[in-house]
Amino acid sequence: MVEKKQEDFNLDKDRLREELHNYTEDFVLEKMEEILKNKEDFDDFCTCENCLLDIASYTLNRIPAKYIASPRGSLHAKLIEFEHQVNVDIVSVVTRAIRIISKNPRHNNGENCEDNN
Ligand SMILES: [Zn+2]
Repeated sequence: MVEKKQEDFNLDKDRLREELHNYTEDFVLEKMEEILKNKEDFDDFCTCENCLLDIASYTLNRIPAKYIASPRGSLHAKLIEFEHQVNVDIVSVVTRAIRIISKNPRHNNGENCEDNN
């Protein structure tokens, strides 16, 4: 008799989750830093955590996720490969996100953001 082992099967979800990593997040954060370093384009842009998270979320929702099971090579090389694959220019999406968020910052309901520095 062959018994099915189904009931004994438990996925170690916590363990797997630890190993899963969406590299699109790294790419986007990397580009955000790059862009925000040249802040002359975005003079009055707020860099409080809320606004930064909004930019990241906006961008990440518009770029496909990229999970790499066993990353090899530099993040930079992966980024170029990724942009080529999905035919997306992360910089332009981040730039658009910054413009949109800075016009409608969530932190301010008529107040200035205290975290802004
Ligand atoms: Zn802010």
